[in-house]
Amino acid sequence: MSGIDTLPPLREVIAAHGLSARKSLGQNFLLDLNLTAKIARQAGDLTGADVLEIGPGPGGLTRGLLASGARKVLVVEKDMRCIPALEEIGAAYPGRLQIIEGDALEVDPLAHLSAPIRVVANLPYNVGTELLVRWLTPTTWPPFWQSLTLMFQREVADRIVAQPGSKTYGRLAVLAQWRAEAQIVMSLPPGAFTPPPKVSSAVVHLTALPEPRFPADPQILSRVVAAAFNQRRKMLRAALKGQASDIEDRLRAAGIAPTDRAEQVSLEGFCALARELA
Ligand code: SAM
Repeated sequence: MSGIDTLPPLREVIAAHGLSARKSLGQNFLLDLNLTAKIARQAGDLTGADVLEIGPGPGGLTRGLLASGARKVLVVEKDMRCIPALEEIGAAYPGRLQIIEGDALEVDPLAHLSAPIRVVANLPYNVGTELLVRWLTPTTWPPFWQSLTLMFQREVADRIVAQPGSKTYGRLAVLAQWRAEAQIVMSLPPGAFTPPPKVSSAVVHLTALPEPRFPADPQILSRVVAAAFNQRRKMLRAALKGQASDIEDRLRAAGIAPTDRAEQVSLEGFCALARELA
């Protein structure tokens, strides 16, 4: 018994299924089910929602999500060793857990989910960042998800919620904050994980806004922001000179000084510039 359900403690599950953590898969497991239930609660009211969980591993967070009342949890896990352990969880929650064995960067799980959909994941940070960028840049908005609740290295979490003027403000902050509300909702020390990673982690909760905060063409905005931050130490008139022959005039028309650097420009400023360049 574990406190949140009638399944065995995760240490026993890991021992029974031989789930020694693999560095190549970024496996740092959460074994405290009270903690995983707390992370699940950060995702909001799960009753009546389908949850997509990427990288369930031995299923600590999965159990937290099911115990929190999620209508259905769909998990995508790359490590086939974890599948039998996940099937045991499915047996304890009949009809509510669907398991897909595969790489989340290649699998499209949407056919199996119904709105409202919330995404929750504790993933290796490189896979997490890649998926976050994909989830933030769909071809149409609003996206398939209502919220994303994602564990990141603290440094990546800081970049997502960063404000202009800070060293961590960049493309990820603009992408995340343009069409979503992003907040750090939990901080976790390395010792919360088995084995402990080298750095601290944080959970970021993003809620999709019905519409972007400021109008802009997504592709132009993305291109301008990437160009501006690729040379973040340069003045914008230099960093963006490939974007238009009269870039200084366009910057001024958008209310931005051509001598500013990317990190000084607000989200509203970048959107105004994207409109000027449209
Ligand atoms: N969610 C579990 C927890 O909190 O204890 C495991 C977290 S562990 C940091 C990351 C998990 O993601 C591992 O189970 C790993 O096998 C899985 N994983 C890594 N890369 C993946 C990928 N590309 N697609 C799906 N799962 C992946």
